[in-house]
Amino acid sequence: MTTTTTGARNDVREVVVIGSGPAGYTAALYTARAQLKPLLFGSSMFVGGSLTTTTEVENFPGFPSGINGPDLMDNMRAQAEKFGAGMIDDDIIEVDLTGDIELLTDSAGTVHRAKAVIIATGSGYRKLGLPKEEELSGRGVSWCATCDGFFFRERDIVVVGGGDTAMEEAAFLTRFARSATVVHRRPTLRASKAVQNRAFADDKISFAFDGEVAEIKETSNMLSGVVLRDVITGATRELDATGLFIAIGHDPRTELFADQLELDAEGYLETQAPTTRTGLPGVFGAGDVVDHLYRQAITAAGSGCAAALDAERYLAGLR
Ligand code: FAD
Repeated sequence: MTTTTTGARNDVREVVVIGSGPAGYTAALYTARAQLKPLLFGSSMFVGGSLTTTTEVENFPGFPSGINGPDLMDNMRAQAEKFGAGMIDDDIIEVDLTGDIELLTDSAGTVHRAKAVIIATGSGYRKLGLPKEEELSGRGVSWCATCDGFFFRERDIVVVGGGDTAMEEAAFLTRFARSATVVHRRPTLRASKAVQNRAFADDKISFAFDGEVAEIKETSNMLSGVVLRDVITGATRELDATGLFIAIGHDPRTELFADQLELDAEGYLETQAPTTRTGLPGVFGAGDVVDHLYRQAITAAGSGCAAALDAERYLAGLR
């Protein structure tokens, strides 16, 4: 991907967007069409955000035959650029959001100044840290049942995790799958009682307590099974499965803002719902860095749009 910028680096920008996922690109599109000449920092290593790590996306409206994740993100970027959004494929490594003009430093040490900042840095799914895990993302390994469950009709799948999310994912997946084995490192689940009871009542769900996935098996570049290890005895066994759903939590990318903006107990950026305003004037939050409920491309894009409109109103109020 190329990098395009508009305007000199040290001008005071109307808007800078941090993050190149659906939230950031949508915020850039809307602010560009509002003639605010946004500049978007999209990361040095991970341009296009989480959807660049998947293959087919079947639930983004407007694409009845589905669309490849990286293609969807390239399209979003091109659409924002068409209306004059500047793009820099670099990280913001330091921010000072406390003054009237926000200061953002890139990895080369250049300080960018802006009247408004939209934070759309997303969140990362926690990984097991096993060989082949990332390579098989979209090829049997998934972090999102809502996104990928449909691809697993009549398959045997494994769900890793013991919290509410893992149980809800397992229950959702049994609408499609033949069986779901929940693998949890402890002897009991962490999920709330009601959620646990629903999972125990589902005959398609079985449990491997005190267990962990020790190895991922692959055939022809697709997941073909896992090796389970009993964490107490060390005994291992192979389980044939064509789906592995990892539901062990997320880490919102908020370290950069932790000492300046309110974060909730799980580290997500706090905004004044239903707006995208944070506690600091001119600073807005959108997408998965804020949202721990929905975490979908379309909801991220929607909140990127909302952040752009909030920023536009804020800037109009300064004039
Ligand atoms: P992200 O897409 O995570 O983008 C944030 C970007 O900001 C990243 O590129 C990050 O590197 C960058 N960034 C972070 N910090 C900085 C910084 N300091 N400076 C510059 N840049 C920074 N959703 C669906 O709706 N349908 C699906 O089929 C689907 N499949 C998925 C498959 C996989 C494997 C994964 C991981 C997710 C999937 N999702 C899907 C979820 C969807 O991708 C996310 O909900 C969505 O991408 C969130 O968008 P976002 O813009 O908030 O953040």
